Amino acid sequence: MSDSSNSSGEYLQENAAQSVAVYEQLKTSFDTGKTFDLSWRKSQLDALKRLLENESDALQDALYKDLGKCKTESWVSEIGFLLNDIEHTVKHLKRWAKPRKVSTPMAAQPGKSYIIAEPLGAVLVIGAWNYPLQLVLAPCIAAIAAGNCVLLKPSELAPATSALIQKLIPRYLDNSAIAVIEGGKAITTDLLALPWDHIFYTGGETVGKIVMQAASQHLSSVTLELGGKSPCLVERSADIAVTARRIVWGKWMNCGQTCVAPDYVVVEACVKDALIKAIKAEIREQYGKSPANSEDYGKIINARHLQRLESYLEGMNVISGGQVDHENCTMAPTLIENPPIDALVMREEIFGPILPIIATTQLSDMLPVIKAQPKPLALYLFTSSKTVEQRIVRQVSAGSVCVNDTIMFMTNPELPFGGVGTSGMGRYHGKAGFDELSHLKAVMSRKFWMDVKVRYAPFSSLKLAALKKLL
Ligand code: NAD
Repeated sequence: MSDSSNSSGEYLQENAAQSVAVYEQLKTSFDTGKTFDLSWRKSQLDALKRLLENESDALQDALYKDLGKCKTESWVSEIGFLLNDIEHTVKHLKRWAKPRKVSTPMAAQPGKSYIIAEPLGAVLVIGAWNYPLQLVLAPCIAAIAAGNCVLLKPSELAPATSALIQKLIPRYLDNSAIAVIEGGKAITTDLLALPWDHIFYTGGETVGKIVMQAASQHLSSVTLELGGKSPCLVERSADIAVTARRIVWGKWMNCGQTCVAPDYVVVEACVKDALIKAIKAEIREQYGKSPANSEDYGKIINARHLQRLESYLEGMNVISGGQVDHENCTMAPTLIENPPIDALVMREEIFGPILPIIATTQLSDMLPVIKAQPKPLALYLFTSSKTVEQRIVRQVSAGSVCVNDTIMFMTNPELPFGGVGTSGMGRYHGKAGFDELSHLKAVMSRKFWMDVKVRYAPFSSLKLAALKKLL
């Protein structure tokens, strides 16, 4: 179902009614207790795995339609990524779900203390368009693993993938507990009005605030996976050829429309020319002489975003690329040299194939500028110096840091993924996702057979002295 074609009152009422019906169905399902059962969770994760394996051709076609993603990229960053996530989750689920024993203080003896990961209930997942499959199904994996019911709302800006998700999920999964609704702003607004037990949102900061405001009406907990400008710092001791190769890979994957893509490069002036030369050579190596026409190079999601990207180039020193094809909605890999710090391209998240390169005498000169900006989702540093690595990893706050590579940290399910400050709140992937979508319920269980009266009134200085020792 799509809500974009009609804005009549009747139609909107229908939308709202559908949202309420699905919400109630999920709540009813949750109340049966079936999702608490680890075998139910595992069966759903196995079913999702079958979906991804059996339908990989159709999914790759949809991703190609929406974003011009080639098969390899679709596999690595969407389907294969999800299959790894499922495998890791199924392998560790029993251990994650076990009560976690903790020690009990002397004052509470005899007794034991433990933490139970309790499912939250009905979870709403709102996805973004740039990885339209991964960004709804990875939170879905965590939600199922943690024993929740879940409603998926894929991004309307990737319509082929969204429609396919809606078609396939009910075919493979238990639709009474895992459902999909398609649509844009109107349906999402209706959904956000409901008292979800948790809302997991991926997308931009502006809508992130809308989500958080809506959640506050019911005090629903939220995970906000947002974006921002992820800096990429290149220090003089870096291996320039490898650095350039890895920057090109991470920047132009999905045409730069990746939340953790290097947004801009800051390079020490003594290696700037070498780096630019190496990046240009790598673009040719990876995408050929006419990169925008390469089968391995994607397209911009829509004309509005292409226009936004074009506006970043106005008045800038474009040293490579810059070609735009409106008909096919593409922009070539583009390098800008030394844009002013207050230029539009340096104020907004680029989220496209433009890479500004800023030279600085020493990285340390730029740290105050970087630290004055909102905290990024990712920080990249290329250096061979342990001292530089330690200093920058400690000094600059970011959701994640990756030294001497770009984006690769996402392949490790042992690493929690999420932002800090304006780049988001909460984290997922692997156990972090399981914990994020669970309530970690504290339990203390005591015995009747010993009841030291020291904590009960009437109090005395002797009792107080004993309590000071015991508590
Ligand atoms: P988008 O346009 O797909 O919007 C995201 C979701 O919000 C969609 O499902 C959409 O239907 C919904 N939405 C849009 N407007 C709404 C409104 N007014 N009210 C309620 N819901 C609404 O995606 P986007 O915002 O263009 O995404 C790009 C941003 O997302 C970038 O900043 C990027 O860095 C960030 N992002 C972050 C991650 C991450 O994992 N942290 C991943 C991908 C993208």
